[in-house]
Amino acid sequence: MAACYGIFLYEGKCHGVGERYAIHLWLVIKRKLKTQDLLRSWDVNNSTMVDQPLCPLCKAQPDSHEHLFFECSFSSRVWDCLKVFTGMPNIPSGLNDIVECIKHVASSHSIRSVVCKLVFAASCYFIWQERNGRLFKKIKRSQDQIFELIKTNVRIKLLTCSFKKTSRDQQLVDIWKLPSTCI
Ligand SMILES: [Zn+2]
Repeated sequence: MAACYGIFLYEGKCHGVGERYAIHLWLVIKRKLKTQDLLRSWDVNNSTMVDQPLCPLCKAQPDSHEHLFFECSFSSRVWDCLKVFTGMPNIPSGLNDIVECIKHVASSHSIRSVVCKLVFAASCYFIWQERNGRLFKKIKRSQDQIFELIKTNVRIKLLTCSFKKTSRDQQLVDIWKLPSTCI
């Protein structure tokens, strides 16, 4: 857990702001979320689930960690739309590759580092929420709605932060429509 906090939380003025996301992200990275593949692994007799249920988001592939983040056609389209907002438009799409990519900028308190971590953490959080909403509450939102939800929540958090200034910051300030006083 400590390592995850170190990588994914900004410890400057917005210390603690991302705690909800960081705890969830730790569960994602450790593959501890209760997707059907994990529940099935606990079922030693394989007696309760003969067929692994389909992903509630795309209804095309079995529900699993690997699929949800971000092999799923629904979640991958949301992540693809968000890439440009991370300030790293070429960031990969696979969970392990994304984490490795973020590790390289994680120690910096630049806006690029904080934005990238927040977008990734919020994406995992709201995609998991959408998956559960469809599975347990029969509530369904579109890819565009999830995309806007992630953007809105990340921007609210960014407005509480201030950043070290680097030469590439202005582009992200413009993309996120942040006040110039934040850097
Ligand atoms: Zn899916």
